[in-house]
Amino acid sequence: MTDPRHLVATANRLLNNEGVLDAFGHVSLRHPDRPDRYFLAVAKAPPLVGPQDVIEHDLDSEPVEPAPGRLCSERVLHGAIYRSRPDVMAVCHHHAPAIMPFCISDIPLEPVNQLGGTFGAAVAVWDSHDAFGDTNLLVTRQDEADSVAASLGAGWTVLMKRHGALVAGRSLKELVFRAVHGCDNARALATARAMGGHVSPLTEGERALTAELREAPVARCWDYWIDRLDRAGRVP
Ligand SMILES: [Zn+2]
Repeated sequence: MTDPRHLVATANRLLNNEGVLDAFGHVSLRHPDRPDRYFLAVAKAPPLVGPQDVIEHDLDSEPVEPAPGRLCSERVLHGAIYRSRPDVMAVCHHHAPAIMPFCISDIPLEPVNQLGGTFGAAVAVWDSHDAFGDTNLLVTRQDEADSVAASLGAGWTVLMKRHGALVAGRSLKELVFRAVHGCDNARALATARAMGGHVSPLTEGERALTAELREAPVARCWDYWIDRLDRAGRVP
């Protein structure tokens, strides 16, 4: 499976099956041969996305081919990240219930287990109100998207206050790995917090040692999630 449109459709459905995307949220893939282009679905619920819904965009987030529906309103996020981060090959924006408590509180989203270490040393936090005042919270303007990209910096995850998260990866499989395990880490942290005990996140040294993703576990998890998608009869 190497066709980028098929991969993007698969990632939409996989991330829905694992509780990261619901009716909203989106995932994109940089063009494998043209770094100035990326693939993203039109505005459609992720579990319903098929390869025919995925279209090619330039880095201004304009479509370069006819779209079979309304364009994704927050597509500027994807173009802004690909422009600012040449190492990023895949991007996901989501509002997973697992991370929302950390988007609406001052409780830091820290890595608390080995897989949570894939967040990197720290999870950046971006608040649209800081630079743009009252908005409807959707990121639809280029300057807003550039601001999110600046907040992501050299990291892999940025929390968007009162909105959701943006996750990046050096490959689609790495992105999916980080997005799913990031939600698992958030769930574990929130549960421990709710239990009222002391929470001990990873040490600085542990964060540094777990941040680097290895290919074997990333591939293993992709196969596992694809199998789960297949058993659900949802592979596009
Ligand atoms: Zn959003």
